[in-house]
Amino acid sequence: MNPAPRRACVMGHPVAHSRSPMIHGYWLKTLGIPGAYELKDLTPEQFPAFVKNLQANGYVGGNVTVPHKEVAYRLVDGRDAAAEAVGAVNTLWLENGRLMGGNSDTHGFIANLDERAAGWNVPGCRAVVLGAGGAGRSAVYALKQRGVEVDIANRTLARAQELAGRFGAKAHGWDAVPRLLREADVLVNCTSLGLAGKPPLEIELGPLKQSAVVYDVIYVPLETGLLAAARKRGHRTVDGLGMLLQQAGFGFRKWFGGNPRVTPELRKMLEADIVAKTSK
Ligand code: NDP
Repeated sequence: MNPAPRRACVMGHPVAHSRSPMIHGYWLKTLGIPGAYELKDLTPEQFPAFVKNLQANGYVGGNVTVPHKEVAYRLVDGRDAAAEAVGAVNTLWLENGRLMGGNSDTHGFIANLDERAAGWNVPGCRAVVLGAGGAGRSAVYALKQRGVEVDIANRTLARAQELAGRFGAKAHGWDAVPRLLREADVLVNCTSLGLAGKPPLEIELGPLKQSAVVYDVIYVPLETGLLAAARKRGHRTVDGLGMLLQQAGFGFRKWFGGNPRVTPELRKMLEADIVAKTSK
């Protein structure tokens, strides 16, 4: 008799907007793997007990999204190096009965940059990261792992300082941005400014070198105001959808095995979904 198909899920609150079921569903189907990937809306009160009983609840693992990533970090029995460094877990799996936590946002961030802007890591590369929340932490860790000099600018200076101290970067207030842009080889937006429904990110790109790469981790809309302005000035641009796609394979391999790949067909499917939902 065949074993029951494996089940994984994405746990968040709210979670209905998540594109993860679309990504994992595509891989399960195209790789011919019997399995399921579901949405689990769990309040902060429900999350800890659900995760501690993941196997009894019928799951081999799952993704963790807002607002549970830091709580997941504290709940697991073991962590990978990226989760340990960043202090947040976005992937859970079971290993010899132990609940393990990893952080694949860091890999997703850098793999997307490698893919969309080959050669970005020029000698003496300097990056300016705007924002010091969860996405900022993943970006700064991943950039430092590649030997990049990182300047972090954030509205709340204390948060930038905490992050900079953790990873050996430099912290600045928002007013330093025009000066920082002059030296930047890579500019990354990790704030929520520019996200659909949020205020725009208002920065003047004038001081930026022509060779600088501009990266926005936001993917709704696909082309943010920042990316549109950068494209018009002739910069290479990188959107956040590739980060979402590139982080997903890590969990899929842990739960289902196989060799999930980010194909142009998969990306087009997600692009179409985002465009359809943001033009409503
Ligand atoms: P957090 O809430 O952890 O951090 C938000 C950041 O935005 C903080 O630095 C905050 O500054 C800043 N910010 C918010 N509002 C303002 C404002 N009005 N003016 C100036 N700064 C502001 O969010 P995350 O880091 O989790 O997410 C940030 C963005 O990254 C989101 O849009 C999310 O969609 C995207 N993201 C994309 C991923 C992908 O796979 N592509 C993965 C994860 C996130 P302060 O510290 O001062 O509050």
